[in-house]
Amino acid sequence: MKKTVEKVAIIGAGPGGLATAIALRKQGIDARVYERAGEFRPVGAGVGLHPNGLRCLDAIKPGIVDILKCSGCKVEKVTLKTVTGETIMTYESPMFKKYGQPTLTIWWYRLQQILASYLPSEVIHLNYRCIGFEQNENSVITNFENGKTVESDLLIGADGVNSTVREILIGDSQPRYVGSMSWRAVVNYKDDLLQQNEVILMKGEESIVFLLGVGEGNMSWLARKLLPDSTLSSTLAEAKSRVLREFANWMEPVTELIAQTDPKRILEGPICDRLPLNQWSYGRVTLLGDAAHPMTPAAGQGANTTFEDAYELGECLYNFPDLQTALTNYDNRRIQRTAIIQTHSAAREKLYYQPFQQTNQQLQQERENFENWMYDYVPNSELRLRSWQ
Ligand SMILES: Cc1cc2nc3c(=O)[nH]c(=O)nc-3n(C[C@H](O)[C@H](O)[C@H](O)COP(=O)(O)OP(=O)(O)OC[C@H]3O[C@@H](n4cnc5c(N)ncnc54)[C@H](O)[C@@H]3O)c2cc1C
Repeated sequence: MKKTVEKVAIIGAGPGGLATAIALRKQGIDARVYERAGEFRPVGAGVGLHPNGLRCLDAIKPGIVDILKCSGCKVEKVTLKTVTGETIMTYESPMFKKYGQPTLTIWWYRLQQILASYLPSEVIHLNYRCIGFEQNENSVITNFENGKTVESDLLIGADGVNSTVREILIGDSQPRYVGSMSWRAVVNYKDDLLQQNEVILMKGEESIVFLLGVGEGNMSWLARKLLPDSTLSSTLAEAKSRVLREFANWMEPVTELIAQTDPKRILEGPICDRLPLNQWSYGRVTLLGDAAHPMTPAAGQGANTTFEDAYELGECLYNFPDLQTALTNYDNRRIQRTAIIQTHSAAREKLYYQPFQQTNQQLQQERENFENWMYDYVPNSELRLRSWQ
């Protein structure tokens, strides 16, 4: 059977690029990943994987989710607290009962490592920073900073929120700073702060802190604050002093946790998104994950919608007779859904910083309906029937 594409170049070895390479190689497509970093370093913090993302990963490669579950933490309990550590509310996570998969919290670095372990090592090219590409009717030539070029049938930009591929393809300038800065890290698990399988959300004035287990004897802290200035600190030590200063009036265990963190492990970053696009694919080039639909972390859907993209792009390339039809269908399947989640995440980002309050029944119902729609996403297995044949 003739394949829609033989050779695919994927820019970026984040969760999106790696999951897509696994999905395409399963079909016998020669998909290769090109990453600007020289090595996979132990960076990032805890990432929340929700039922929609886990279901797509499982459809891409049965077994991955079980491995991720062995590495990360299945969230069973959520606790809301004040800055002084007073508990406001504790509730059981409804995810597994409602959607058949839990929320899984895992270290970003371990997620990257586990996904990479499903690919032959020669498929991932490190020290390949994409700096440009040119396409014609028959192929795309991608240029890298190291002087190398790669020719492929399809180029996928999975190169994150500051995507070079998007910049060249669409040119819609810089991501939008939404007004909050974040600092996050992974540290050794401390059982006096956090129970196993618990997520703690603490709210202060215009600031929040999450504490979560990420498995394998580690936990993660994520601190966010509304700040007009999105300038990054010039050194790692300065970033640490800044977060300590911004969270100085928090309960001691939180400030102590930050104080004890190795500055090399603290990832500082502005929270950014972009407005939704109405087209991702042009000719032989398309976008995926944060490059296509960067969103604020408020709904925890960055990685999850990215896994949906990876699955659906794989299915479209498998099912449709030519590249153009496959990419048009990919855009049609993904753009509307991710635009809704992007818009929702932007609105919810601001609500995060408001004091805890009871929502009325109607708002509660609307929220539940939205969450059902978001988490109940089922990878479209019917497409596998190859309806075009
Ligand atoms: C280092 C890092 C740590 C992160 N940590 C967390 C976290 O702790 N929690 C969380 O929720 N989310 C985190 N994220 C974001 C999260 O991964 C994404 O929101 C989501 O998973 C979508 O993934 P993605 O693969 O589309 O993009 P990303 O995860 O951003 O991956 C993009 C990849 O492309 C590479 N890249 C960028 N430009 C180029 C280029 N020109 N040429 C070649 N390669 C390029 C980057 O180095 C990166 O590996 C992190 C992202 C990065 C890059």
